[in-house]
Amino acid sequence: MSQVAIGIDLGGTNLRAAVFAGLPNSSEAILVHREEVGSARSPEAITQRIGVLIPKLLQRAELGGLCIPIGIGFAGMLIGHDGCVASSPSFGWRDVPLGDLLRGRLGERYKIGIYNDVNAITYGESRLGAGVGASDILAVFVGTGIGAGAMCDGILLQGSNNTAAELGHTKVAIDDDALQCDCGLKGCVEAYVGGSSLQERARRDLDAWASSAAVQLAGGVGNVHPGHLDAAAADGDDYALELYSEVSPMLGLAIANAVTLLNPKRLILGGGVFSRTPVLQAHVLAAFEAAVNPPAREGLQITTAQLGDTGGLVGAALLASTI
Ligand SMILES: [Zn+2]
Repeated sequence: MSQVAIGIDLGGTNLRAAVFAGLPNSSEAILVHREEVGSARSPEAITQRIGVLIPKLLQRAELGGLCIPIGIGFAGMLIGHDGCVASSPSFGWRDVPLGDLLRGRLGERYKIGIYNDVNAITYGESRLGAGVGASDILAVFVGTGIGAGAMCDGILLQGSNNTAAELGHTKVAIDDDALQCDCGLKGCVEAYVGGSSLQERARRDLDAWASSAAVQLAGGVGNVHPGHLDAAAADGDDYALELYSEVSPMLGLAIANAVTLLNPKRLILGGGVFSRTPVLQAHVLAAFEAAVNPPAREGLQITTAQLGDTGGLVGAALLASTI
């Protein structure tokens, strides 16, 4: 029997929502909504907006009066299983009881689940996307940051505090010069290969490399983004290749260590930056292949995410359906 649920993706830029009516078999939404998060991003402001949005969506989908599960994928690190946000650089939040705030606002009518956004995407991909047919999965997404999710024996790996699979915050440098990460610590792989870090680093460095193809392609140092770096690397640009030779082994090693530890059947790669940087991805995979434990590599299928923007929405909706 088909189930109805709402999936919400609360990211640093957009608040997206979708109503699904064919779960668990279909990722087709009967209604989608998108609005910009904008500048009013306090916990109270966000809670209020979601509190207004949910009844509106239900009304538009002609589901008013129904008590349906609501899953929210959130761009931040959670702690515990009640939707408490430990930290979110995207929102500037620390120790925010988002779950309690939403339950207080929406009342007991709704079953609300709050999940790390990458965990929600991983779950969506595992059930209806690139993970179908595999019960042990590692998904790695390189966007503005680096996120990961893991399915072990068909169950989303959450850990005792719900912080499992934070691949972006595994350390790849421990010296005094290690780069600062948004999480507050130094030397995280995200501080080197996350899209924002890569972009900021390149713009800083390229002041002294004005002849780099990346600058020419971007039309100025201040416009350089990872896509330009990748196109420059494909052209054999010295700066881009030097940067890649430094940072791509870091992500390759982090993924290899995770695969060595978890022994997944399928490795799913995705994310807004990774999908636009095939050269970076090739460098990362070369480092991965050299470092992964051979028995864990045997039979591993490497693939790309299939659900795009829908993955997090349908994943959050599916997870909330299990509450
Ligand atoms: Zn970190």
